[in-house]
Amino acid sequence: MTSKNQKIQLEVINVPLYDYECFSCGKRFEVFIGMNDSQENCIYCESNKIGKIVPNISKKVDKDNFKEKTGDIVKKHIEDSKAELKKEKQKLKESYR
Ligand SMILES: [Zn+2]
Repeated sequence: MTSKNQKIQLEVINVPLYDYECFSCGKRFEVFIGMNDSQENCIYCESNKIGKIVPNISKKVDKDNFKEKTGDIVKKHIEDSKAELKKEKQKLKESYR
């Protein structure tokens, strides 16, 4: 029971904001999903011809995470290669002895 409740809370925190675009007046606005289930009308002209653009915050977080991860992978790869090279050199030295 407790774990189920925690999961629901996390999901609400992860999807706080959505960008919507109104096709009638062309304005964009942000909506807190989770407060209301979904936005169906433009907040400016109340037209129902609106479309969701992208989850605002999730996109930003993903981008930052991706950048960080790639940097780490590259760094690790370089370090691995260096270690590998060192090992190879060591092996060569030993075989000459
Ligand atoms: Zn509108």
